[in-house]
Amino acid sequence: MSTTTLPTATPAKTKTLGYAATSPTSPLNAFSFARREPLPQDVQLDILYCGVCHSDLHTARNEWQNTTYPVVPGHEIVGRVTAVGSQVKRFKPGDLAAVGCMVGSDRTCPNCQAGLEQYCDAGFTGTYNSPDAHLGGMTYGGYSRSIVVDQYFVLHVPDQFGAPGKPGVGLLGQERNLAGVAPLLCAGITTYSPLRHWMDRFLGSDSSGVSASSDSPTNRGPLGRREWKVGIVGLGGLGHMGVKIAAAMGAHVVLFTTSPGKKEDGIRLGAHEVVVSRNQNEMDRHLASFDFILDTVSAPHDLNAYLALIKRDGTLTLVGAPEKPPTVEPFSVIFKRRSLAGSLIGGIPQTQEMLDFCAQHSLTADVEIIPIQKINEAYERMIRGDVHYRFVIDIASLS
Ligand code: NAP
Ligand code: ZN
Repeated sequence: MSTTTLPTATPAKTKTLGYAATSPTSPLNAFSFARREPLPQDVQLDILYCGVCHSDLHTARNEWQNTTYPVVPGHEIVGRVTAVGSQVKRFKPGDLAAVGCMVGSDRTCPNCQAGLEQYCDAGFTGTYNSPDAHLGGMTYGGYSRSIVVDQYFVLHVPDQFGAPGKPGVGLLGQERNLAGVAPLLCAGITTYSPLRHWMDRFLGSDSSGVSASSDSPTNRGPLGRREWKVGIVGLGGLGHMGVKIAAAMGAHVVLFTTSPGKKEDGIRLGAHEVVVSRNQNEMDRHLASFDFILDTVSAPHDLNAYLALIKRDGTLTLVGAPEKPPTVEPFSVIFKRRSLAGSLIGGIPQTQEMLDFCAQHSLTADVEIIPIQKINEAYERMIRGDVHYRFVIDIASLS
């Protein structure tokens, strides 16, 4: 998305191996390509795990009609630092580190200055399928052995998730469990960011004076005694993180799912209620009652049904991005002065805040670890909604 021009001297390159799609209909396959050698501001990582986001599938199959082939997807990356540039002070070889959906932005526009690089006026550089400002061609993502990224766009993995070289110290024990951290880099931040944004607005509208230090036994977040009623639509990768994060923030969480079989999991993951959205009676019980609903659904569906559940001045926010545009009835928003909004991933400072929040609350993704050779099968299962609740590629399988 960035329009940055190529630097005058092209950096030295090294070869690496990944998995790429070469057309909308071709399965992903092994693909050899070049990464740059670290520049003074760069961090080089050996990738350990990479989560599989539905955006990877939308892009691999050109469902958003913006794919340049070959494409190496993957923007939920956890790895170990192998080298750093001469000006890098925040990371050293051996550190665990993470990379999410962005690897560049202009860093000077008002949005970047506000730490909202995802809304960069020049367009951010995506971890994959964006023009590569250093080597030319396109950026290649995390379905690969290694990556080189400007230090600003590299995140620290909190120690609680597995301090390097200290077995047993990390919250999750073994490094293998870092697989559950990888999906935080997209599914985590994409749900944390709007939840935080609209929760802050909700708290800002509070004139009751109830503070974050409420002694209510149900107070698990900064909401105090006020009930913030939040709906999460869809129990996939994003949705299951949305449920966990909203519950940890102290919201009253209602999960909407089309899959009756996911009811028990919804409760286990932190939802207080689960509604099977195909059951009209269950839907009607919640008419005009929500402060906020976050819609994570990847396929076309009826938004008006969810707008009807929003109370006066509440908001339905879309993060799911189906390939076909939805139909919104004007009266769905005119009545009760409702808002329909959207939200894109999250900025770098907030991504670190989210990782720290998840570490503090012991939140990681529920994952099914796969070897990279199973990626095409995983895509088919994702389309069928058969994900519990994020596929994560063990990059050691890429040999
Ligand atoms: P996912 O794991 O495949 O989950 C999507 C869920 O949506 C499914 O598990 C299913 O949940 C529900 N669903 C699927 N088809 C449906 C249908 N026809 N009608 C109703 N519900 C349906 O996908 P994901 O990785 O969470 O991504 C979700 C969407 O968010 C994708 O479009 C992705 O591109 C987008 N995304 C946006 C951002 C952003 O910055 N805004 C970032 C990342 C991803 P149930 O079985 O519970 O109904
Ligand atoms: Zn994603």
